[in-house]
Amino acid sequence: MLSQRAGNSQLPEQRLIDISGLELSAGLSAELISHIEQTLINGEQVLVFLNRRGFANALLCHDCGWSSDCPDCDARMTLHKIPPALHCHHCDRRNPLPSHCPACSSRRLVGTGIGTQQTETFLAERFATYPVVRVDSDTVTSKAAIPELIDQLASADPILMIGTQMLSKGHHFPHVTLVAVVDADALLFSPDFRGEERLLQLLTQVAGRAGRDRKQGQVIIQTRQPEHPLIRGLDAPYHSLLPDLLRQRAQAHLPPYGALAVIRCDSHSKQEGLDFLRALKEGTPAIEAHYIGPLPAAMARRKNRYRSQLIITAKTRPALAHTVAALVSQAELGSRPRQFSWSVDIDPYEAL
Ligand SMILES: [Zn+2]
Ligand SMILES: [Zn+2]
Repeated sequence: MLSQRAGNSQLPEQRLIDISGLELSAGLSAELISHIEQTLINGEQVLVFLNRRGFANALLCHDCGWSSDCPDCDARMTLHKIPPALHCHHCDRRNPLPSHCPACSSRRLVGTGIGTQQTETFLAERFATYPVVRVDSDTVTSKAAIPELIDQLASADPILMIGTQMLSKGHHFPHVTLVAVVDADALLFSPDFRGEERLLQLLTQVAGRAGRDRKQGQVIIQTRQPEHPLIRGLDAPYHSLLPDLLRQRAQAHLPPYGALAVIRCDSHSKQEGLDFLRALKEGTPAIEAHYIGPLPAAMARRKNRYRSQLIITAKTRPALAHTVAALVSQAELGSRPRQFSWSVDIDPYEAL
């Protein structure tokens, strides 16, 4: 029966709502509100994802999608309210808050991730005839976690659930048929360059929650950046994305399948860093290990300095250690440009 249930689960249908220029109610488009309403009327359950409170925000133009990019880093400047300013958390640059969009002169500049509280209040009022529950890791996993909540979630009654953080794996909401991500841009434009990866993870997990059982699920994502490569890439069905990613990692001996190290360097020009790493790679044969790169780092430019990396992967840690040791001794011997630094990181969290 188990396998049959899995077999009967249908993949969620996915819908992007481009909210650029739309009138929004507490961050929600009329289209999304009507989908939520219809799902509840059908007697099904809805899970709405809001951004975590305190999540740092970028400034976006509601009309043209301009974003507050830092001129010196491949990152967005963060919106600060008091005092009003844009601040880059990577290089400390501070700019005054623009009163209108530098690209299209629109005055409708909005901070991503703002208004979580309004959205929550709005939903609770708009759908007051249905139970509205918060589902966060703490409310769902704590021991005191209220047997009624668990009962409610397991029941087939219509409920509107609001989550503000990633739910850990294993929570089963068999009756959720609509999952909505209110502000995907807040993750895309997170000052942390891993924001994009988090978004993908979140969406993959979230999609796994929609329509696990017999009912067809639906995932709706609101964005002002429908052309962003990651958002576009989401058109690929989730079930094909993840195994592919894992297969690629296995082939490349990347975690969780192997050992990994990164040699990073920070240089005045992009070419200097890449040349330095290329010379290392060419001078040190990889023994039972593989090189990836040299490549620009995920955030290639920071404080107007260029960051590049050479990734070393191996099936085993001893094999990795052997090649890394050889690279390090070569790097120490060689000459390097002025204002240049390099470092080695074993099992880095950031490289992937
Ligand atoms: Zn910066
Ligand atoms: Zn604009």
